[in-house]
Amino acid sequence: MARYTGPVCRLCRREGLKLYLKGERCLTEKCSVDKRPYAPGQHGQGRKRASEYGQQLREKQKARRYYGVLENQFGRYYEEAARRRGVTGENLLELLESRLDNVVFRLGLAGSRAEARQLIRHGHFNVNGGRVNIPSYLVSEGDVVAVREKSREIARVKELVEALTGRTVPAWLQLDVEALNGKVLRKPAREEIDTPIAEQMIIEHYSR
Ligand code: SF4
Repeated sequence: MARYTGPVCRLCRREGLKLYLKGERCLTEKCSVDKRPYAPGQHGQGRKRASEYGQQLREKQKARRYYGVLENQFGRYYEEAARRRGVTGENLLELLESRLDNVVFRLGLAGSRAEARQLIRHGHFNVNGGRVNIPSYLVSEGDVVAVREKSREIARVKELVEALTGRTVPAWLQLDVEALNGKVLRKPAREEIDTPIAEQMIIEHYSR
């Protein structure tokens, strides 16, 4: 599977905000956005005014990078969101939030979406009792995402589990720390998605 392998802090600096791509490091003073709050590259501190198209493009890129989705796949999410009933922008965010890697991250079972993707790829998670190793798998209402029994002894998993006590998760999810699983109670409502994205601009970008 193709994926971005370059420096991820550069992506945050490009978008001008923290995308939380590196887990715990993002919360320390080592964060590059805090240290160098301007775009990367030779002209990073130069002209900032963007055209309408430029702003829409940046919003789309921000969403892609936030959720770790490549261009083509993101385009397919847009098509699916437009096909569904309701507000296309909200449908798009709902699809992105329903990705298994996002759910694992939201439940606190990984430090970042990138780590969630890796853990899922390595087969450490079950959905409704069956192993799922596809990070883009879309969860549905009632699904239960659990750390596999064998994977609970892994040092990193233990570390993540220790940090779960007292963790709050979005209202559309339910975390059971004892059972090491999370249940999808319902689809997320727009106001429950804290992603700093103006989805309408993404829709305008694709509608051009
Ligand atoms: Fe982004 Fe995290 Fe790097 Fe800060 S530390 S720039 S939030 S990936």
